[in-house]
Amino acid sequence: MTAIELLREKLGLDGLSAPLRKTSRPANLAFVDIHACTGCGLCVTACPTLCIESLANSKAGRGGTEPVQIRYQECIGCGLCVEICQHLAQASAIRNYDTNLVEQALSCKIGAEAPQIAGSVEPLDEYWAEEGSFHHMGEMASLRLTSLTDTERAVIEGARLPHG
Ligand code: SF4
Ligand code: SF4
Repeated sequence: MTAIELLREKLGLDGLSAPLRKTSRPANLAFVDIHACTGCGLCVTACPTLCIESLANSKAGRGGTEPVQIRYQECIGCGLCVEICQHLAQASAIRNYDTNLVEQALSCKIGAEAPQIAGSVEPLDEYWAEEGSFHHMGEMASLRLTSLTDTERAVIEGARLPHG
């Protein structure tokens, strides 16, 4: 079992594999602090709705890397990317935010369905980055590695990327 498969299992997301479209209004949505992102891409390939995208031509990520951001109208708030970023990428760049807060912050409505045509991804660092208006108001990874067996913890630790 890979580390991402293990995280998916621990979050109860076994049935949620890509490509998936949202079918209800999620309670939470994930956003990236683009300045903390190393651009490793682990979350991009793991996201069940494939809604995480590189910010092309941006070098705003950690160490001048190209960061990613989430097309939030497609996000189902599953939290997998939050766990991956914290435990495997060691970047802690993604948080889950309450959907009501997101609607207030971005003056938008989050619907039960994803848009037919994917919107373009934006940096949104004025809201979700360290100096942004709503940073720290979201939830970080919920999985405690101490709750894993020694074998499971070894799988996670063996797959960790070095600090970016
Ligand atoms: S896992 Fe974290 S550091 Fe890696 S691309 Fe995603 S947000 Fe950036
Ligand atoms: S929470 Fe993260 S992994 Fe889950 S759908 Fe949203 S962006 Fe994708």
